[in-house]
Amino acid sequence: MSRSEELFAQAQLSIPGGVNSPVRAFNGVGGSPIFIESADGAYMFDADGKRYIDYVGSWGPMILGHNHAAIREATHKAVDRGLSFGTPTSTEITMAEKIKSLVPSIEKVRMVNSGTEATMTAIRLARGYTGRDKILKFEGCYHGHADALLVKAGSGALTLGVPNSPGIPEDFAKHTLTVTFNDIDSIRAIFEELGDQIATIIVEPVAGNMNCIPPVPGFLEGLRSICDEYGSVLIFDEVMTGFRVSRGGAQEYYNVIPDLTTLGKVIGGGMPVGAFGGKREIMDYIAPVGPVYQAGTLSGNPVAMAAGFAALSQLHNVNLYEGLYDLVDRLVNGLQERADAAGIPFTTNRAGSMFGFFFSGDGPITSYQQATQCNMQHFKHFYHSMLKQGVYLAPSAFEAGFMSAAHSDADIQATLDAAEKAFAELKAL
Ligand code: PMP
Repeated sequence: MSRSEELFAQAQLSIPGGVNSPVRAFNGVGGSPIFIESADGAYMFDADGKRYIDYVGSWGPMILGHNHAAIREATHKAVDRGLSFGTPTSTEITMAEKIKSLVPSIEKVRMVNSGTEATMTAIRLARGYTGRDKILKFEGCYHGHADALLVKAGSGALTLGVPNSPGIPEDFAKHTLTVTFNDIDSIRAIFEELGDQIATIIVEPVAGNMNCIPPVPGFLEGLRSICDEYGSVLIFDEVMTGFRVSRGGAQEYYNVIPDLTTLGKVIGGGMPVGAFGGKREIMDYIAPVGPVYQAGTLSGNPVAMAAGFAALSQLHNVNLYEGLYDLVDRLVNGLQERADAAGIPFTTNRAGSMFGFFFSGDGPITSYQQATQCNMQHFKHFYHSMLKQGVYLAPSAFEAGFMSAAHSDADIQATLDAAEKAFAELKAL
């Protein structure tokens, strides 16, 4: 028995499923999760001392690689000044100004502690601002685990097959309309019927919780014009795509500007941080200026702000994103070539430094329905073969992959060599 297996057995005695977040439990691929002891650059090291090339990056935050020196040092310095004060601090202003400079559609921003808090409050704010109850989300998009948003959700909820969780009153869920990602006609049809009751459309501008599905041309533009026409608030949930798809997020990459943006992951440099922000007029509906309530004992925590600010400050490096895009190109093109050579039906998607791969021969994957119809047996076997060879991918077919600036050409080559072996094994199944 490996040390990870021993720890997993022990963990299950005192933690539900042995994990503090469901997708970590390997339900999507079977087997026992890997317990990590430390991480550095592109690598993670498990409890048995084995090294992995990591394409999960703590589910997105680690765009600069693990244990980045500037973030570590800024965090240490903040720790020396005290862990939390419950008062305003000047670092919160610096952080807010940094976010505004990177994402210009954000005129005001409020810091929170997770992506879930950010989206939950953005929805409340959109409802308070418009005086409407209904919200519109997309099947397979995940926006955290707030009640109103855990309806036909992606990520762990998709992997576990419980898109509608018990514990959410039907009365809450009934205000959540669910539509098909990348299908603008179905959204227009709903708005023609109910448009004056819809407070907001919330969307992952690149869907990253049903694998990686970029928007088809015209989709985000269509959402923008529908919201303008009906006076609904357009929320881009950029918890995953923010600072990731490009420096200014998906809104910069696709040049479509939302009313509100939610942020998480990269914004905290690895610390628990989220944020929501946008148009001044809407943000001023939040307490204490406005009537919509939201608060947080540890929000804007000085240590978290120091880590986040250090991470965001690194993003100005001129070659960062071009370097990331090149690495993703090399990886996904290399995977495709090797799958083709082995005769394995396979296709890939990418958006900036996010990528996805699908065991499917049905051409480009643009929908939730296609994503859920891929060959799961191939995925699971490929997953475990890669893991055995020291490549750590997301343990679910419904998660995006993330590249970091710490990955080297040699890491990509080692990953492709491992994939070549894995594809050959699939052929022999
Ligand atoms: N929105 C999106 C798009 C996400 O990917 C996630 C988490 N994966 C969340 C919201 C929720 O963030 P958190 O897990 O920090 O609550």
